[in-house]
Amino acid sequence: MRWTVLGCHSPFPGPGGATPGYLLEADGKRILIDCGSGVLAQLAKKMPLYDLDAVFLSHLHHDHISDFFVLQYAIMTAIKQKKRAVPLPVWAPAEPAHWYSKLSYDRYIEKHVMEEGTEASLGNLKFSFYRTDHAIPCYAMKIKEDQRILLYGADSGPKTNWTRMADSPDLFVCEATYLHKDLPSQPTGHLSARQAAEAALDLRAKKLLLTHLYPDYDPKSIQQEARSVFASSIVAETGLSIMI
Ligand SMILES: [Zn+2]
Repeated sequence: MRWTVLGCHSPFPGPGGATPGYLLEADGKRILIDCGSGVLAQLAKKMPLYDLDAVFLSHLHHDHISDFFVLQYAIMTAIKQKKRAVPLPVWAPAEPAHWYSKLSYDRYIEKHVMEEGTEASLGNLKFSFYRTDHAIPCYAMKIKEDQRILLYGADSGPKTNWTRMADSPDLFVCEATYLHKDLPSQPTGHLSARQAAEAALDLRAKKLLLTHLYPDYDPKSIQQEARSVFASSIVAETGLSIMI
């Protein structure tokens, strides 16, 4: 499996950046995980947008879905021009219903509800979904290919129960919205870099990729904070690619 960062900022992109989006390449499939602002311009550097095999949206906040509405146009155009034959499958939570309904786009999108207890298979890949601690329904995704495991934590607060999702994932992709000193006194459904590193320890993860970064933070501060707890921590940047 190859995991490529297309966007790692939140809640808005920094210069040349994008809000969350990742390209997963495995078993001959190309899958987009989250589709935030600026993600398509990064994806288009790697492949034609209309060649995607599937999209998984962890939750329906704008920083994770805003480019999806433009992706619909790329799919529509490609199908009309016979560059693509089939609708684009997308998995997403059914709530908030108002936003879920907007993911439909005539015959160009094939929607599937993402919820805990359901699984999705694409070729050799198996996706399992786990609810996280967030303001709206949001799902972490365990992606398995043979014995390899990637756990994408999506947006997640400190009450997220990680250890039921995986044991020793090869890669744990976790949000680090705050430096710990800036953590609000009331939890907001987000983590600090230190809390992400603690989650990686609990999971016995082999490697931690910190993402969902406030664009004004210095990535070195995020890395330093995480590494003081979990040594194998790296900070996401646009274009970073990790083989698992
Ligand atoms: Zn977010």
